Amino acid sequence: MLIALLPGDGIGPEVTAEAVRVLEAVAGDRLTFEEAPVGGGAYHTQGHPLPPATLDLARRADAILFGAVGDPSCDALERHLRPEQAILGLRKELGLFANLRPARLFPELADASALRPEIAREMDLVIVRELTGDVYFGTPRGRRETNDGRREGFDTMRYDEDEIARIARVGFETAQGRRGSLCSVDKANVLETSQLWRDVVTEVAAEYPQVELAHMYVDNAAMQLVRNPGWFDTIVTGNLFGDILSDQASMCAGSIGMLPSASLGQGGKGLYEPIHGSAPDIAGQGRANPLAAILSAAMLLRHSADMAAEADRIEAAVAAALAAGHRTADLGGAVTCQGMGDAVLAAL
Ligand code: NAD
Repeated sequence: MLIALLPGDGIGPEVTAEAVRVLEAVAGDRLTFEEAPVGGGAYHTQGHPLPPATLDLARRADAILFGAVGDPSCDALERHLRPEQAILGLRKELGLFANLRPARLFPELADASALRPEIAREMDLVIVRELTGDVYFGTPRGRRETNDGRREGFDTMRYDEDEIARIARVGFETAQGRRGSLCSVDKANVLETSQLWRDVVTEVAAEYPQVELAHMYVDNAAMQLVRNPGWFDTIVTGNLFGDILSDQASMCAGSIGMLPSASLGQGGKGLYEPIHGSAPDIAGQGRANPLAAILSAAMLLRHSADMAAEADRIEAAVAAALAAGHRTADLGGAVTCQGMGDAVLAAL
């Protein structure tokens, strides 16, 4: 299968290089890599953060391994030329509507969590966030002046039933591959959109009798995520609530350098990336933690390549490297980015 490699800016290339070494070690004979520029680097050399040839490669590839984009030298550019537009453009062009973010605390890192270790240790969940709808894309939206001359801003929260059913199925299927429990998060006590959300998720549940479905209001979910994160297996929610809850869950799971993500479209194609950005403050110093990128590569094998056993091997090797005491700077150690890659390869 063809993997589009888009390392991007800052620490993106450093962490992606380690992920590629790991992919080559577990499945090199079945993978072909093709690399293309994206983000600030692509803007500087080709005049656009998502050049046509890069988009073409992403379309041709079976999966995309993405590093990070973001370059301080591009801060003054118009919005459509900023590096971050590349990731939004890829999501849109490839129809990537489902964002999967596992938040799991490796037991060795319990002290790095924002939660007390005995609570954090229980955490092993996935948030399935809808990515292409909701109040972020609903129209009408804008700013206007009221009749009495005050400024007013407004947005539209909307989902149609097909969009809800589509993401609900990703939620149920994710839960099915895990511990079989799905929690749908909404605000159905107040919002019409959420009432429809709850109705449709409940209807789709009939297709997945093995999965246990619960509904929770988003305010309660925010509380329970810090009070009892171990209760959750898979969470499915809309774009806005998912944006907030997934960041909250990340902080409970320790360093930002540990957390992978997948953005999936129809038919198994996906974009895999660490949740962190380009970290310009540590770029080029060998201090980045490559584990989020390596775990993103494991997600790629699981979701786009039907190589679950190889994905399990990578995740076990990451756990083994941590158990052996290897720590990058963000985890309080002095192991370099490449040194951490070596430790994972040794564990493999
Ligand atoms: P960031 O995630 O890049 O960095 C936040 C902090 O975490 C920094 O102190 C950084 O050093 C640290 N950090 C991040 N990843 C790390 C790793 N793997 N190992 C060790 N430490 C790590 O977020 P930011 O500073 O807010 O943003 C920097 C740039 O990245 C901005 O241009 C932003 O727009 C962009 N960004 C891109 C993406 C993406 O590509 N998907 C996501 C978030 C931010």
